[in-house]
Amino acid sequence: MDAATISSWMREIDSSVRAERDHLVQLDAAIGDGDHGTNMVRGFEAVVQALGADNGSPPGRLLIIAGRTLVSTVGGASGPLWGSALRSGGRVLGDQITFDGAQLAEVLAAALASVKDLGTASLGDKTMVDAFEPAVDTLRARIADGEPLARALDEAARAAEAGMRATIPLQARKGRASYLGERSVGHQDPGATSTALIIRALQRAATSES
Ligand code: ADP
Ligand code: MG
Repeated sequence: MDAATISSWMREIDSSVRAERDHLVQLDAAIGDGDHGTNMVRGFEAVVQALGADNGSPPGRLLIIAGRTLVSTVGGASGPLWGSALRSGGRVLGDQITFDGAQLAEVLAAALASVKDLGTASLGDKTMVDAFEPAVDTLRARIADGEPLARALDEAARAAEAGMRATIPLQARKGRASYLGERSVGHQDPGATSTALIIRALQRAATSES
């Protein structure tokens, strides 16, 4: 994988959050302020634009540019969280021109660590961490087991989707939804939903070229 994989990942995210914009808005309207779909669309549209203007940066650098773009274009909590995630992930790759599955798992692990560090959410708090952490754990474990990348990424995306659905019965303990207390129970977390889209987008981007 290389810089083209990262550009393709960002384009895949852009098209999937665009396709799911109304759904993400509805989920956030139920337990937040209804801006999650527009936040994600605005952010990744800007990312695709920024990467389109880039002239041959290595993959780690593209992730850092993407993260910085999200921070500067997204007002909601998801902007700084995904922004710092992509910047931390990008730093793992340094100036490398290519990377393999194990390195991709480390990129995602650093991204997750950054989200948890900034947002102080743990598994079960009904946030994006509930989709992200199972995806990272699954990817790392499957790669370590020697599974082919395509299958490992598909399983990671499935784990994110399962984590997303598992937020429904939870009570939110972080972010805007936590203000609702028990009334947040019974709704799927919008950030976990977009995170599952982001991991699925990675699976598509990383497997379409090999
Ligand atoms: P805002 O809540 O500021 O309107 P968004 O609507 O874009 O921002 O994003 C909401 C999502 O952000 C939530 O569904 C949740 O998944 C995620 N989120 C909010 N706060 C945190 C946090 N402290 N840690 C991790 N994720 C969080
Ligand atoms: Mg919101």
